[in-house]
Amino acid sequence: MASINSHSEFSFFDDVCQFFDHAAQFTSHDQGLLEQIKACNSVYRFCFPLRRGNKMETIYAWRVEHSHHKSPTKGGIRYSEMVNEDEVMALAALMTYKCAIVNVPFGGAKGGISINTKNYSVSELETITRRYTTELAKKNFIGPGIDVPAPDYGTGEREMSWIADTYLTLNPGQLDALGSVTGKPLSLSGIDGRRTATGRGVAIAVRECVSIEEDMKAIGLTAGLEGKRVIVQGLGNVGYNSAKVLEEFGATIVGICEFDGALYNEGGLDIDAIIEHRKEVGTILGFKGATKEFKNSAEGLEQPCDILVPAALENQITEENVGRIQAMIIAEGANGPTTPAAEKIFTEKGGIIIPDMYCNAGGVTVSYFEWLKNLSHVAFGRMDKRYEETANLNIVNMVEAVTGVTLTSQQRSVIVKGASELELVNSGLEDTMIRSYHEIHKVYKANPKIDTLRTAAFVLAIDKIAVSYQSMGIWP
Ligand code: NAD
Repeated sequence: MASINSHSEFSFFDDVCQFFDHAAQFTSHDQGLLEQIKACNSVYRFCFPLRRGNKMETIYAWRVEHSHHKSPTKGGIRYSEMVNEDEVMALAALMTYKCAIVNVPFGGAKGGISINTKNYSVSELETITRRYTTELAKKNFIGPGIDVPAPDYGTGEREMSWIADTYLTLNPGQLDALGSVTGKPLSLSGIDGRRTATGRGVAIAVRECVSIEEDMKAIGLTAGLEGKRVIVQGLGNVGYNSAKVLEEFGATIVGICEFDGALYNEGGLDIDAIIEHRKEVGTILGFKGATKEFKNSAEGLEQPCDILVPAALENQITEENVGRIQAMIIAEGANGPTTPAAEKIFTEKGGIIIPDMYCNAGGVTVSYFEWLKNLSHVAFGRMDKRYEETANLNIVNMVEAVTGVTLTSQQRSVIVKGASELELVNSGLEDTMIRSYHEIHKVYKANPKIDTLRTAAFVLAIDKIAVSYQSMGIWP
């Protein structure tokens, strides 16, 4: 059982602060302002009892609001026995920088409960989630204009719907109550495309990165995703969806690493077949479509590939194993998978790291869309889809009449069709990821002393947050 002060030697928050301090030297802000941006504003740690049969267990939990330079604050909730205060603080801080980078108007936050979900029944998990939400509500740590949780490692739509229902119960008649949490199922005012958003965002980030010919040439690769070999760590929400969309973009998934082992096939792995296999036998091991199998999952990261997508947990690529990583691009689907020391070694040998605070920002981007949908109480596309289709049809009819050309019914429907909610969401996500990559890349290229894309991303985030403080009149 975890205790409130359970800290390992590794400090994730120190790592984030180290990256921050390194980037801060490339900005011209006052030390006091930098200190305020870096600090965690509110750290709420609490415990509550859970009855299990005739025994009682203490559940340890946290919610950290890192920055209130914008409201509400926003960030996922993690269920893992490894959760501790340092980790939640680090993840909350990353949320602040992430939101700034992709221009999502939220401050950063994160929550966590120190439990291994495999040890609890569904009804116990529901009790824990509802009690956690009640504790947040008691201290004003949740609400559509205060702090808005979302899924993270170990949580998903099911937990978000328990949170929404508890918040609704505690706030009867509050019109915007469903905006108190995102990542909800569609049937409970969620948004189409949220489930796949983080992974889709990772894939778009990678596609943008490999589209720059000059950068690819420098690391001995050709431009474009076609035929690029990818290894993915973590076959959960982020890993699975990253793999699927990278495949859709032309890449080949050659490796999958899970907590219980890793699979490899130079010719490509069938991701859905691996999922089916895991459902049947309870492990990815023993999958027939793999040519190599590793009981030690970490070995899977070190196999031949062009791109590595760590999408499990922090502290996976360290000084110890980075020298054995064969990929030249690391796309951080997870938060904090690469330590500062490992990043230094990897980038000094020429490798590119697409940093977490940008790479996995697709989730919060689409969460922002969901929050907007909840506040406006109308699904995207509902008001204008038919109007758009009628207008497009009028144009097609007019062009046909003027030119004498008759389109096939398939050509007609492609032109006439109005956008669905999913299409609008994916288009907004794609635009955000593309624009943000090039913004970061521009900062990176503008100053030869800025050593990595991560440093550039931090510089960009710090500058944007500083502007918020200035516009609030808190800083001249
Ligand atoms: P998830 O719980 O859906 O999946 C995580 C997967 O990683 C699980 O399948 C788990 O078995 C596997 N795993 C655990 N330890 C592992 C190990 N040592 N090696 C290989 N695999 C391992 O979680 P998720 O939502 O996909 O989150 C993964 C990461 O992405 C986290 O760092 C999270 O903070 C980050 N993230 C998630 C979202 C989101 O929208 N869910 C958004 C941004 C960032």
